[in-house]
Amino acid sequence: MTRFQRSRSLAVLTLLLSLAFSCRGAETFRFPDVEFMRLAPGVQISAEEALTSSDWQPLETSSPNFGYTLDTVWFRLNVPADRQIDLLEIAYSQLDHVAFYVVDNGKLTEAIITGDRYPFTQRPILNRHFLFPFSPDTSGNRKILLEIRTEGTLQVPMTLWNTQAFFEHASVEEQLHAVYYGILISVIFFNLFVFLALREPVYLLYVLSTFGYLLIIGNMNGTAFQLIWPGSPEIQNRAMLFTVPLAVIFTLLFSRSFLRLKQTGPLLNRVVLGFVTLNAAMVVITGILEYSTAMRLIVAMAIPSTLLLTVIGPLQWFRGKPQAGYYTMAWGALSLGSAITAANKYGLLPNNFITTYGMEIGSAFEVILLALALAARLYQERQDKVEAREAELAAMAARRSAELKLIESALHNPLTGLPNRASFEMQVSDLIRQSPKTRHGIVVIHLNNLQSVTKTLGHQNSDRILELASRNMNAIMRELPGIISLGQHNGRNFFLASLDSETFACVVDASVAESARRAVVHAVDAVRSPIDYLGMQVPLNAQVGVAISPVNGTDSTSLIRRAVIAEGSDRARERGIAYYKPSRDSYSAGRLTMVSELQQALANDGLKLHVQPKLDLKTGRITGMEALIRWPGRDQPVGADEIIVLAEQTGLIKPLTRWVLEQSLQLRSCLLETGHVVDLSVNISPNNLREPDFPLFVKRLMSAHPQHSGAIIFEVTETSMMQDPVNALKTLNSLANAGIPVSIDDFGSGYSSLSYIKQLPASEIKIDRSLITDLATREEDRVIVQTTIDMCHSLGYLVVAEGVEHEVTANMLKDMGCDMIQGYLLSRPLPLEDMLIWLAERRKAALQQVSG
Ligand code: C2E
Ligand code: CA
Ligand code: CA
Repeated sequence: MTRFQRSRSLAVLTLLLSLAFSCRGAETFRFPDVEFMRLAPGVQISAEEALTSSDWQPLETSSPNFGYTLDTVWFRLNVPADRQIDLLEIAYSQLDHVAFYVVDNGKLTEAIITGDRYPFTQRPILNRHFLFPFSPDTSGNRKILLEIRTEGTLQVPMTLWNTQAFFEHASVEEQLHAVYYGILISVIFFNLFVFLALREPVYLLYVLSTFGYLLIIGNMNGTAFQLIWPGSPEIQNRAMLFTVPLAVIFTLLFSRSFLRLKQTGPLLNRVVLGFVTLNAAMVVITGILEYSTAMRLIVAMAIPSTLLLTVIGPLQWFRGKPQAGYYTMAWGALSLGSAITAANKYGLLPNNFITTYGMEIGSAFEVILLALALAARLYQERQDKVEAREAELAAMAARRSAELKLIESALHNPLTGLPNRASFEMQVSDLIRQSPKTRHGIVVIHLNNLQSVTKTLGHQNSDRILELASRNMNAIMRELPGIISLGQHNGRNFFLASLDSETFACVVDASVAESARRAVVHAVDAVRSPIDYLGMQVPLNAQVGVAISPVNGTDSTSLIRRAVIAEGSDRARERGIAYYKPSRDSYSAGRLTMVSELQQALANDGLKLHVQPKLDLKTGRITGMEALIRWPGRDQPVGADEIIVLAEQTGLIKPLTRWVLEQSLQLRSCLLETGHVVDLSVNISPNNLREPDFPLFVKRLMSAHPQHSGAIIFEVTETSMMQDPVNALKTLNSLANAGIPVSIDDFGSGYSSLSYIKQLPASEIKIDRSLITDLATREEDRVIVQTTIDMCHSLGYLVVAEGVEHEVTANMLKDMGCDMIQGYLLSRPLPLEDMLIWLAERRKAALQQVSG
């Protein structure tokens, strides 16, 4: 738009200049010699009277300007003896009454009456200027008389023309006007469309203001009368009275809006509004005033308004307001043009091209400059909007990434980077929802020693250790059969989640994990082994708890809670890992009733002991039995593990163990009576070792039954001893000193410290079932078991393999040098009566073998 406007303004300038300086040919037009005669208002004479009057005076110029006058002015001009001259032009359109007379040799030959007061169509030649044709004359005796009266400024710029030459000349001027109107109209439409699109009042005000100027100019040079209201001279006569103040009003309003006076100049704003009011009042007042007075008032009002419009620009510019620069230049041009034209109207300046077209030229410049300014403003606004939008988008992107980071951090532990509890709970919930029938193992790992690590090494180190441990455990869990991924982040695959600062969790397909028992034991071992940190072996004392869906719960919260309960159980402390059992859950309702039932069972002989035989591999004889607790007569069978945990949690373990010991003695007495001289192993809880009177009780019991002396073996698990190693060792030593043999149970199921075991007064080691079950198929296990056997033998322990279910395993163990086996291969744990039958049958079979 700007380039287009610029090139157009250049064309206008060129046309204007060419018109201003064009050399008019001598044959085609003449400025006549003119005489004039002024008559006071109301005095009217006929053409004949005028002709013979003696008041004629010579006129210095052919373009007289009498200013505002109500006088009637007569002009007399000689038509030169020139064939070419046949047209009189009065290059002014605002004359109310124009009478044209042709006088040949003193005789009136032609008369034409016209003017603004008559419809346009009445003119001899339809042109915005007054044109009077006549036949050419060569005699030199022809004169033209003009009688002119008007309420506005009385200007009569007269030219004698050759008709053809006039129209040739006029067409150039018309083109010029067309360009001028073109500029204004396109600016009007352009800004109108901008207004319609943007709905910003400034554009509409500019349209109205420019339209006002268009009307003023069109009115002034007669185009409006010719084209818009040719049949309405009354409009033509009063048009200036409302177009000028309206144009001024809209221009004031536009300037106010364009310069943002409300914000940038409150005082100026008030002044401008005052002028708007004055001009508006003017429109009303001029409606009732006589034309020339009204016109003078209008111009008198327009001049200070225009001056105001001219000064506010520089004022605001001076104050450093943008936009004011454009505005100043635009209004400078218009004001100058208008001032020139106004001065011309008042008769202060002579008629010439600049004075005649001053306002047009000025307004063309103004319109173009302001259009440029508005375009610049539009561009700026769009730029601002684009920038604002970009800033908004950038802010949005920043917010989004902040949100993502928040979500990210909301779902990850800041220290370990692992998914956090919220994330874990969500994933577990999803898993359960997706496959409610699948058995999912919720595994919780708690680092018991972390607090003491922090106390010893400080927070910084403990954080590093925790980080290391989390990576380590994540790597361990990844290898676990049935492990379920917890997603990826920053290129890390997660199998582990951080529940809190020292608790971790993962989820496995329980069925898959259970079929890989060994792998689970290995994973637990790996998790429980100390962390290598700066050359130190830092024990974190990890404990694992497992809850399985859907049996232990169907929602993530209670499953996690139950896994945590299992992890916190003594069993987990002893063995490193524990599975959730409702009976062990001191927080479950069902457990409460079970506690009282157990109490009753203990008091009413509701419990029973079963025995499982131990076979000496060298002699092939049953040399021992293990007493295992049973709770028959319940609707819902309760396993020995559960009974023990329940007893341990409620303090019932003390009477329970003492009951078991007493029962065992009775039981062994029965065995002895039936000729079976076997040892009897009894499981002792670590809690018992903490009872201060336990050694005393045992000693008393044993001395009361000397026949069992040395034949009742106490089984303790290594991990149980670790809870309170010093006291446990003390108790065991005092028991050993009293002649009680000690057996280390579940060896290899957890984290074993041989250096500690070496201190224990044990005579026997029982290798845990988990190492024996897959012995036939797992080379790895064979190596461990073989090493254990050899090592234990070198330390002087007898070695018992637990959980032997197959002949192959038994044979292997025999080859490995294992001393004894125990397991379903021989017999399940049986009530004494059944065991006696089993023993009898076995003895019979052996005898048959010998005899056979
Ligand atoms: P434990 O001391 O390791 O006992 C051996 C467990 O292995 C017994 O489970 C036994 O039934 C089972 N078992 C034996 N041979 C095989 C086999 O070939 N295959 C398989 N799969 N299992 C075999 P039970 O009777 O359920 O006892 C569980 C645990 O409860 C015991 O583990 C022991 O820690 C505890 N417990 C049992 N009775 C008592 C008790 O009177 N006092 C205490 N303090 N703990 C007891
Ligand atoms: Ca045992
Ligand atoms: Ca065992």
